[in-house]
Amino acid sequence: MHALRNQRRGGRIEVICGPMFSGKTEEMLRRLHREQIAGRRPMVMIPPRGRYQDKIESRQGEHMSAIAASNASAALQLIKEHEWGGPYAVIAFDEAQWFEDLLEASVALANAGHRVIVAGLDMDYAGRPFLPMALTMCAAEQVTKLTAVGRCDCEATHTARLGDGEDEGGTWEPMCRLCWKDAAKESNPSRVFDMET
Ligand SMILES: [Zn+2]
Repeated sequence: MHALRNQRRGGRIEVICGPMFSGKTEEMLRRLHREQIAGRRPMVMIPPRGRYQDKIESRQGEHMSAIAASNASAALQLIKEHEWGGPYAVIAFDEAQWFEDLLEASVALANAGHRVIVAGLDMDYAGRPFLPMALTMCAAEQVTKLTAVGRCDCEATHTARLGDGEDEGGTWEPMCRLCWKDAAKESNPSRVFDMET
């Protein structure tokens, strides 16, 4: 009876987003561990530019093995090659903002019956939406926006980049909109995405 119910289950897309340090990977791992308890084997895809190349890890130290793919189409190919878990397996994308074709891959997988869990930043340090995340949110069954704890004990929704350097330099800090705007204007006004009303 249980197996029959599982077989009728359609795919779905879930998006977990928010600023840095908001526990996105932790929330993804929580959902994936529940799938493991239910006997399903999740497959986790990560972009090649992340901290690790073979696993995801929460800040509490929990981890799960993962496979690096240069884009979501390549991830689709890897998923087909591995055939893990059969047609109802769970597919997760971490650091998903770096997968340019995230929407297309997520929709294809969900339509094929997979549960797709996507975790990533919704905005960059200037407050600009990451387009792959924005598009995938529109197609998702469920969107979860997480917040971090900001410097003013506020609910941090944004990620500020402090210090100099336009590339990877500086440090990152989650902040509420007000703190983020003040901090960005202080260090570099071009780091604020708005209409300057
Ligand atoms: Zn604040």
